[in-house]
Amino acid sequence: MPYTKQRQKLIKTCLAMSSSGINQGTSGNISCRLDEEHFLITPSGIAYEDMTPDQIVTMALNGEYEGRWKPSSEWRMHADIYKVKEDANAVLHAHPAHATALSCLRQDVPAFHYMIGITGTNIIKCAPYALFGTKELSKGMMQAFGQGNTCLLSNHGMTCFSSNLDNVLKLAIEVENLCRQYILARSIGTPALLSKEEMNAALALFKDYGRQE
Ligand SMILES: [Zn+2]
Repeated sequence: MPYTKQRQKLIKTCLAMSSSGINQGTSGNISCRLDEEHFLITPSGIAYEDMTPDQIVTMALNGEYEGRWKPSSEWRMHADIYKVKEDANAVLHAHPAHATALSCLRQDVPAFHYMIGITGTNIIKCAPYALFGTKELSKGMMQAFGQGNTCLLSNHGMTCFSSNLDNVLKLAIEVENLCRQYILARSIGTPALLSKEEMNAALALFKDYGRQE
């Protein structure tokens, strides 16, 4: 079986997504890029704890896939990100409680905390509502990313991308944490927002965030 290591890593990341609490049931899906034309993605409707490496689907960016297992119904979002975002090597889509709660208000998450800079920009935008799995949903998502790597999807959840599977999981956990903090802050008042200058200073530091070399 080709790409066995990558398949195992994908399953490991799925299990970590569940144990971190950002995923409920089988609603989340994860993928990683293989080359310029292909990526690996989780199959549709299989519980992570039962998932085996052969069930991970090899897909082309045009939607064709190999084998008997159907890819996640949200494969379009993954494919569209890999087509456009050259720095994307891993994509995570999930319905974490706090990010999803905010998505139901159809509101962006502004720069209430400097950690918003982890998304590569100073706002997490919320894409318009569209039926799951559709081209329309994916199109709205791509616009909502702007210069960043994360967005909410109205009445649905969130999607983010990063340089590898470990980093995309870390990003998703941090985004859910930010959404929780934002809800808490809003529940006791109106959060003060950081200025553009303050966020630019934070963003400059985030360019090297997490790099140890
Ligand atoms: Zn979803």
